[in-house]
Amino acid sequence: MSDFFKTKSQFYLPKGIIYLDGNSLGPLPKKTQDRIQHTINNEWGEMLVTGWNKARWMDQPNEVGDRIAKLIGATSKTVTVGDTLSIKVFQALASATNYQKNRKVLLTDSSNFPSDIYAAQGLVNMLQDDHQVKIVSTDDLIDNINENVAAVFFTEVDYKTGRRYDAKKIIKAAKQNGSLVILDLAHSAGAIDTNLTELEVDLAVGCTYKYLNGGPGSPAFIYVNPNLINSLDPCLSGWLGHENPFDFSLKYHPASGIDRMRVGTPPVIAIAALEASLDIWETVNINDVRKTSIQLTDQFIKGVEQKCPMLQLITPRLPENRGSQVSFSFEHGYAAMQACIELGVIGDFRAPDVMRFGFTPLFIDSQDVERAIETLAEIMSKDLWNDPKFQKRNKVT
Ligand SMILES: *Cc1c(COP(=O)(O)O)cnc(C)c1O
Repeated sequence: MSDFFKTKSQFYLPKGIIYLDGNSLGPLPKKTQDRIQHTINNEWGEMLVTGWNKARWMDQPNEVGDRIAKLIGATSKTVTVGDTLSIKVFQALASATNYQKNRKVLLTDSSNFPSDIYAAQGLVNMLQDDHQVKIVSTDDLIDNINENVAAVFFTEVDYKTGRRYDAKKIIKAAKQNGSLVILDLAHSAGAIDTNLTELEVDLAVGCTYKYLNGGPGSPAFIYVNPNLINSLDPCLSGWLGHENPFDFSLKYHPASGIDRMRVGTPPVIAIAALEASLDIWETVNINDVRKTSIQLTDQFIKGVEQKCPMLQLITPRLPENRGSQVSFSFEHGYAAMQACIELGVIGDFRAPDVMRFGFTPLFIDSQDVERAIETLAEIMSKDLWNDPKFQKRNKVT
């Protein structure tokens, strides 16, 4: 059984703050600082360039990939870490498009995260033939899968509403039509019990700075189904995806296996921070995380609906249809979230009117949820959001 009392003690959380934004940027594990110091002083400082071998920096992207694999139901040697999520989305889309020579449609839904859609649009513009990105409503995804669709790409948990898609059903429809599926796990990894092996998904990508707590800008990961990997062109063909990088050959030959999805030099210091966070993940079971997250989100939904009738729940009420965040729409949502933050409950806001709250059993317990409900109730009952100081928009909302 996972000990969430213990995991909570392993995070640094500023005094008096209830942090409900781990779905955007996870908090700092207490051990991260020492781990980074070690990498800087003992490895970079002392070993200099020999650290690539002595400290095994070159192996880290795959080793960390294996640790993430356990959290997303993937087998070892199917995940590697590097670059940013937007880049990995582009790579996955390019590889899938290239694999499906005669298919011209990249299909997604209008609730997908803009960066994922932009990456597809950029790819299609670059190809300059009759490829196209087709955007339909989430509920129309399945009906639009046909023999022209090269790949369907979607984010398993909607970043705005917290809705969890029926990945199984979408993947089944894609398989029947010979379309590949690219699953974005940005709001799944470390939040829900996604099982990539069971889903038989083709490609998946995700980031590590949200629920995995790797720190701002920590590297992304990519998964490729082991049955597909050796027939897939990585497209972003960098030297570290080459079968023999240190031959410095002028012709690109992809490495076999997940190695070919690597591109360039790994961010060693950022990976060190991620390793410190994954140490905490080693001590818990993702099924316990999911179970507890459902309890916390249920508690929050019930409490807020009871005490704040002016907030409209836009997250599915059925636990199996949502991820680990709860969103409410409210006309003055931006100002209300600013008031919330001033009172020590940190969530965030997504245009036009969505207040988002993320729940992470690793460092949020039911007492925190209770306090968050009380805080929100106070803001709403006293119209605290109606203060001019809360109306000014920041760059990051
Ligand atoms: C957070 C998020 C991103 C962000 O991509 P970065 O390259 O890390 O900035 C992309 N896609 C989805 C679905 C996300 O939730």
